[in-house]
Amino acid sequence: MKKPKVAIVRIKNGDFLSAVKEAIELAGGLPDKIEKDILIKPNILTFKKTEEETIPIITNPEVVRSIIKIVKEKDYKSKIYVADSSGSGLDTSKVIEKTGFSKLEEEGVTVCQISSNGSTEVEPKNPLKLKKTTFSNLSLNSVIINVPKMKTHTLTRVTLAIKNLFGTIPGMEKSRIHAVGNTAKGFSKCLVDIYSILKDKIVMNVMDASIAMEGHGPSHGSPVKMDLILASKDAVALDAVATSIMDEKPSRVFTTRIASENSYGVSNLDDIEIVGEKIDDVKHKFKMPEKFISFLPIGIFFELNKKQPEYKGSGCIACLRCQKICPVQAIVVDKKEKRPYFDYTKCISCFSCNEICPEGVITITRRKYKKQLLFGGFIGLAFIALILVVSILLA
Ligand code: SF4
Ligand code: SF4
Repeated sequence: MKKPKVAIVRIKNGDFLSAVKEAIELAGGLPDKIEKDILIKPNILTFKKTEEETIPIITNPEVVRSIIKIVKEKDYKSKIYVADSSGSGLDTSKVIEKTGFSKLEEEGVTVCQISSNGSTEVEPKNPLKLKKTTFSNLSLNSVIINVPKMKTHTLTRVTLAIKNLFGTIPGMEKSRIHAVGNTAKGFSKCLVDIYSILKDKIVMNVMDASIAMEGHGPSHGSPVKMDLILASKDAVALDAVATSIMDEKPSRVFTTRIASENSYGVSNLDDIEIVGEKIDDVKHKFKMPEKFISFLPIGIFFELNKKQPEYKGSGCIACLRCQKICPVQAIVVDKKEKRPYFDYTKCISCFSCNEICPEGVITITRRKYKKQLLFGGFIGLAFIALILVVSILLA
């Protein structure tokens, strides 16, 4: 079987166009002929107060501008859209404006929210979790160039090419999918179901790893200057390589593992042809959002490691975004007190509230009662160990 190609290219002297062009060519190039509309799908999740804070969260608009120029050189005669659906509680048009994406209209393309041409209900053929969902018509009827960002993610560990396609789902339907998924693994299955529907429409994935994000992603992490562009026709292979560049095992990312297990792409590095730079030459140890205990292969420790959103105690502006986005109505914002209240008996730890909060005042903490359980567990283990030692000494 022919190995999928993944290109790794350095951005030199801030020249995005040359890097993107080289990456796309190395990855096999764009098709000679496209007769449908073209959807360029970046990550336009949200915006912060300054451009410096915003750029690590979103696909850099300059990467998208480069793609537009490259597509136009092909003379396809297709209509080109740049579209996304921002975080569920947000007005995408405002995010497009605030992130600078609206300026791309000067290239003669339409920049809009993903549902601007309507949406259609679709049932995946072999659903892993998501029996049906509503897709934007733009994503269903176009050829797609997927343009994700390299970032960590509190729920899915990383957000790369497969996760980026979640933005093809309009508005609050995204919240419903979080509720259907319920856990990180369940949600990742939903993401793979979404990928299974869009997979054959994607002609190229171009990943912006110019300034990536580590730690508390996808919107409250720290920037990491990587100066890289990655590209591949296989989103699974691209995610596997990107994860390895972040010095993390691809098998620890549910979306990559589940997609590969279901033959939607290749995640084994030995089965991928890496072109351009070598992984080892560009690798950087990314700070992951999870703590050490999450990798222990014992269900109880996974359970003990569950986290919950928590209000920082100050800084809330009562914008209600967290309340609106919560898929299980576990948040009530008190407008007078200017603070959110959480119902942890309902919360499914999807962390959409943390992602959407413009002030960054919702943090993720380990569940307190779990801490007590953990403490109790250690005391119990210490007690058993003591009994064993005493028994051995007395034997
Ligand atoms: S409270 Fe936050 S983390 Fe919990 S379900 Fe609602 S949006 Fe998700
Ligand atoms: S916690 Fe954040 S998202 Fe929720 S109302 Fe306050 S500022 Fe808005």
